[in-house]
This record gives sequence, C-alpha cells and structure tokens, in this order.
Amino acid sequence: MPLRLYNSLTKKEEEFSPSDPKNVLMYTCGPTVYGRPHIGNYSSFLMADLLRRWLETGHGYTVKHVKNITDVGHLVADADHGADKVEQEAKKEKVDPLTIAEKYTTQYLEDEKALNMKEPFARPKATDTIPEMIAIIKELIKKGNAYETKDGIYFSVETFPAYGKLSGNTLEHLHAGSRIEINEEKKHPADFALWKKCVGENAAHLLRWNFESGKRIDSIGDDASAGFPGWHIECSAMSTKFLGQHLDIHTGGEDNIFPHHECEVAQSEAVFGAPFSRFWLHRRFIEILPEAGGDGEKMSKSLGNVYTLVDIKNRGYDALDLRFLLLSVHYRTRLKFSWHALDEAKKSRRKILEWIDETVQQSEKKSDAKNAEKMIDDFAQKFLSAMDRDLNVSEALAVVFELMSWQRNVGALSGVAAENLQTLIAHIKETFGCFESETQKNIPDAVQKLLLERADARRKKDFGTSDRLRDEIAALGFEVRDNGTDQAVKKI
Ligand SMILES: [Zn+2]
Repeated sequence: MPLRLYNSLTKKEEEFSPSDPKNVLMYTCGPTVYGRPHIGNYSSFLMADLLRRWLETGHGYTVKHVKNITDVGHLVADADHGADKVEQEAKKEKVDPLTIAEKYTTQYLEDEKALNMKEPFARPKATDTIPEMIAIIKELIKKGNAYETKDGIYFSVETFPAYGKLSGNTLEHLHAGSRIEINEEKKHPADFALWKKCVGENAAHLLRWNFESGKRIDSIGDDASAGFPGWHIECSAMSTKFLGQHLDIHTGGEDNIFPHHECEVAQSEAVFGAPFSRFWLHRRFIEILPEAGGDGEKMSKSLGNVYTLVDIKNRGYDALDLRFLLLSVHYRTRLKFSWHALDEAKKSRRKILEWIDETVQQSEKKSDAKNAEKMIDDFAQKFLSAMDRDLNVSEALAVVFELMSWQRNVGALSGVAAENLQTLIAHIKETFGCFESETQKNIPDAVQKLLLERADARRKKDFGTSDRLRDEIAALGFEVRDNGTDQAVKKI
C-alpha cells in the first residue's frame, strides 16, 4: 500500500516515493541554540522522527536524515536586521557566542535522547559550513540572482518568478502585505539577506568570516570583507553538503514556512536550476490552554507558558509521556496542550505498556482462540493503512486499543498467532518509540549490554554466540525470551 503524505508545496495529499527507490533523503530544520528548546520545537522534531520511523519500519526505506544546528545568523523575529539570537544570549550570560551554542546544543541533545528520537545521519553546524554557503552566494551573484549593498548581499526575489509558491506569499501579495522591511538599498522590499556585513548595527558582531577566503576572523577590526551568513542560506548549504541538490522530504514547523522555507526554495532552485524538495511537511503550532497558563495562542515568554522538557520532568512526568502526547495528535492538527491532556497521555501510555508486558508473560501459554491469526493480520493491515494515510496516528492508536481489548477478550494466544502478535507489537513500538516496558527499563546496564550483543548475534544468525549470551544473562539473574525479532527479559 502506498504511503500518502500531505505536501505543503502542492497543498494536497500525494503518494510518496523517493527519487531513489530504496533511500529517502530527508532534511529537518534543527534548533537555533540560544536557549533550551521548548515543547513546541519538540513537537516539530518529533513529527520528523515519526515520519522517519514510519518510512523505515512501515516501508523498509533507508532514511538519510540530516538535522542541522543553527549557531549563527538567526536574527530575532526571523528578520534581516536586529540582534543575532545566539549573540544576544551570549551578551546576557556574559560569555562568548560559541560557549552559548555549545551549552544549548548539549541540552538539546540530552532532551532528544530522553525523547527517544533517532540519531540523524548528520547534524551539521552552520558555523562549520560557511565556505559552502559562500560558494552558493557567489554563484547566485554570478547568475544575477543576488546583489551587494552597503550592509550585505541580498537575494533578488524578482529574478525568481516562482517566489511564493510554498507559502502563498507571492510578490503581488507581498506588495499589499506587512511582513516586509524597509531598506532603501534593496531592489524589492521582499529581497532577503544571504550575507550580512559587519558594518552599522552589525559592526560588533562577534562571529565573523572573510567573504573572500571563507576563513573565520578572530578579532573585531575593520576588515571590509568581514560578515556572517543569513539564516536561510545556512539550510540550503547544509542540505546540499550532506544530501545533494535534491531532497525527497524537507520538514519543519509551520512558522518556518515563511520566510525561512520560501527563501530556501528560492535560493536553492535559483542556484541549481532544479526542484529543491519534492515534499514539504510542516507541524502545526501547539496551543497552550488556559489551564496550563496559556490563552489558546502560541506559547509566549511573557505569559510564562514556554515549557521545556525540564519543566515537564519536574512535574513528575516521564519524557516519553510527553513524546506520546505530542505524537498522539495528527501533525496537521493544532495540539491543545494542558496538564490534563498530559495526564491522559500518561494514563494511555501506561495502559499500552501494561498490556505489552502481559502479552510477553503469556506468550508460552496454550490457547484455543479461534481465527486468531487472521485477526492479528487484520489489525496489522488496519494499523498500516492508518499510518499510510498521512500518518494518521489517532486512527493507528485506535487500532492499538481495539487490538488490546480483542486480545484480552480472547485470552492468551499460542503458536503462530502469538508470534505474529509479538511481531505486530514490535512494529507498533518501533513506530511510536514510547512503549518500552517499565520492566525493560529497570534492567541493569550489564544485562542491557549483553542484550545488545545478543541482538547483533541473532541478526548475524550466529546462534552459538546467542546461546552463550543467553546463559551469561541468566547468570546475572535474568531470563531472556525471543519474540520475533525482539528479546523480552524478566527477572528470574
Ligand atoms: Zn532551516
């Protein structure tokens, strides 16, 4: 069954297939590391994680996923002038910008791990990709798509007639619109900065590079070629460096659509003369309900409702409860966040975890359930079909709950039906990434290590080693049982 995804570019649901039939090239706009990311950021990263997991486990693709780290050039209000977010925080904390970037990158990576997100193929930093950005900018100048002013180098939107195709903010619309800045030197008000020179309001910008050589400049002086990149060019350069000029999927939050993604499309397509990304997926905003200190709008610092994973944990929730909540609502629906909603998510997740544990304990009992194999097959098909319809998680979870109540009703399964049930459970666990059982969680590190080695041995069909490791695990007081490709352990 084909996977259908809603493409923000064409504004409709379409059948997905990558350029290369086996491999998917996917890029996700990562965090700007000037503060600990909040649950809104994570809802967007989790959408990308779910999509990647489904491409892998549901369709067998190999996903080459790149997720960048923005450590320079992202200015406040996503604009072309004003303070650099990372440098502004550096001033506040009285340290240098790279220290800030490092501090918040570490926190972000800790959170991603706790939220069980899969490790991407690459996590490029903007500051490590400056020469690639400069090369694209120089090429855009050569092609007549970019021009220099006193304070920077700008992309000329009038040279790219398709500008506005992603966001709907075409040049006609922008003439009447308000989200454009006045800069008398710009040829068109919607032209955007590819490069900012260290002059005027940016004269003291600390992170700076020589535009000619691409080399980092360590001290603030009057080097006329000193400057730093605009935020949008960073993603075009980082995606090209690791994935090439054409992507299968580009993801982000809905607030990235304009100007960020619109500008990425313009500069990448203008420079390479080919479509940039076939699919665009965007996660809608989270609304904070009044019960959690919100006013039904976006999170805001002034309302004190910008929650991080630390806030969630401090209130006694597991990071995976948050993962479950953020994934349980379809990505094109505004998720309404409240503590009550998180409580409900926590309860539902526990119910699924308890049931998974139960099925593992029963897997060797005899059963006389009729039609069990066919029923499991039907549930598997229903789960697959729900996920294939634009990642319809609410329907997929409804299938899980239906499966739970059916299985409890018929009791323990045996033989092929029991095996198929465990395979389906493994599939559900891999898709959602938050149903690792509590008993699994309390397994000592030494046993975990042996289990990993044993999984590896089983993959290689090295059964001698696998049996030896089973004995070693038993010597540490744990019994291991194989369920499909999964290993279940319990204390002896
Ligand atoms: Zn980006």
